Amino acid sequence: MFESFKNKWKIRVIETGKFKLDGGAMMGSVPKVLWNKTNPSDELNRIDLSMRCLLLDNGKDVILIETGIGNKNNKKFNDMFCIEQSSFPLKDELNKLDYKLEDITHVILTHLHFDHVGGATIKYENKIIPTFPNAKYIISKSNWDAAINPNPKDRASYLSDNFLPIKENNQLHLVDDNQYLFEDIQTISVYGHTTGQQLIKLNHDNDSLVFCADLIPLKSHLKIPWIMGYDLNAMKTIDEKTLFLNEAAKKNWILFFYHDPKCIAVQIKKSIKYFEVTRELSIND
Ligand SMILES: [Zn+2]
Repeated sequence: MFESFKNKWKIRVIETGKFKLDGGAMMGSVPKVLWNKTNPSDELNRIDLSMRCLLLDNGKDVILIETGIGNKNNKKFNDMFCIEQSSFPLKDELNKLDYKLEDITHVILTHLHFDHVGGATIKYENKIIPTFPNAKYIISKSNWDAAINPNPKDRASYLSDNFLPIKENNQLHLVDDNQYLFEDIQTISVYGHTTGQQLIKLNHDNDSLVFCADLIPLKSHLKIPWIMGYDLNAMKTIDEKTLFLNEAAKKNWILFFYHDPKCIAVQIKKSIKYFEVTRELSIND
């Protein structure tokens, strides 16, 4: 996938599974009569979401971006979020691509909300340990501090079993905001959704691919006023999204969606009212 990067990076899409969240909470102040057309809800008002990770391999480093919701959760949790996945999604999906858990050298996490970091640790013989024994887990210092000492608004999204074992096993690597993690991988730090979320931008020649995480979780959120009710600071998200999408349109970045159940990635241009999709990428592009 993503032809233009292939001289340097093998890029693979890892679908870890699906789950559902309340449609109203995902769309904030947008009325249901509008969002229900693009993201139809079930009888409990929940909409479909994917948890689509990326695997980047340059022949030396094997980097996983994001980890899905994991398999440590109990039945009540699985039912509430309607989780649909295999019993060990990361292992199963990596094996299909001829990788083992041990092969992963780096795990980059955009932020520590449970639907992004749940797969970072597993239960093994009554202990919780990192899923990837040989990986360095890269997290922003600002988000780590927020997760350890969470704000009442998103406290329920930070479950310590998902991230404390990383530190206990000395696999934690904290980074400052807006850093180059590798020669051609940089982070873009944003604060509207939660403190210190880092988007991941892969550059190669004149092309860039950005893992948009929860700045733009669904294709629908390309519309500037479509902001999640979950966000700590909606006005900040609007400012960050406007700046980000203007640059993405100007430079023709590929925008990769973690949560959109149907659309993997797009390129956009600026039109009079909104940003318009000029190309929708599929797994075969
Ligand atoms: Zn989040």
